[in-house]
Amino acid sequence: MLERTGIPTKAEIESITPSDERRRKGPVAVIECFQKIPCNPCYTSCKFGAIREFKDINERPVLDFDKCTGCGICVVNCPGLAIFIIDETYSDTEALVKIPYEFVPLPYEGIFVTALNREGKPICRAKVVKVQNAKFQDKTPVVSLAVPKEYSMEVRFFNIDDYFSDSTYICRCEELTLGELRELIRMGYRTLDEIKRISRAGMGPCQGRTCRQLIMQELAKATGQKMEEMPMTTFRPPVKAIKLGALTGGVDNE
Ligand code: SF4
Ligand code: SF4
Repeated sequence: MLERTGIPTKAEIESITPSDERRRKGPVAVIECFQKIPCNPCYTSCKFGAIREFKDINERPVLDFDKCTGCGICVVNCPGLAIFIIDETYSDTEALVKIPYEFVPLPYEGIFVTALNREGKPICRAKVVKVQNAKFQDKTPVVSLAVPKEYSMEVRFFNIDDYFSDSTYICRCEELTLGELRELIRMGYRTLDEIKRISRAGMGPCQGRTCRQLIMQELAKATGQKMEEMPMTTFRPPVKAIKLGALTGGVDNE
């Protein structure tokens, strides 16, 4: 399912979901990294020893929920945008979901946005509570959304309503703007795969992590198709450049 649609299965989600008891105690990371890739900044950046040491750089991260403080340091260091923080103690009715977000412009604190699930479907309105953007460190910005508590394990993206213009980057790895995407659709490209092949959108380091839902939404709007019925493309894990020695185990991983 993940390779075909980019969307994890229910069983995969359950395997990384903190228990109800842990979620009642405070903020905690949810690591949605389901494929073996040569990558480990989550482990190296965690100062609390909450992520088990990688014996092999291709291992998937294993999180000890009881050691995790929900500090979010791993979120800004994960190149795959695969880590979220959920805090169900935020209020009686709402949870805070911290989402890595690499689009510009960033939202303003205090505005309301449309929260989307992993498939890119709208599920609720959400308030932007905080925007962290440590530009000087070249880290991924993080947007904190207040959402109804029952959606803490559902909300993983959001749309800033009426915020996108033709010059907004849809695929920031391959620099495809919304205007260029609309022009391709007008020219007759009707599937995500066609858009990917003609524009390279989704073929950069994040492998479509940030652009595929936006392209699907735009295609659905322009063609009247339902997103769940539209053909998907093959999704591969995010790409991170590493030294060849790290693959062979010939050097220490710093
Ligand atoms: S949220 Fe903080 S404590 Fe938890 S895994 Fe990430 S870096 Fe470690
Ligand atoms: S993509 Fe993110 S969660 Fe996965 S191994 Fe790399 S840093 Fe860790």
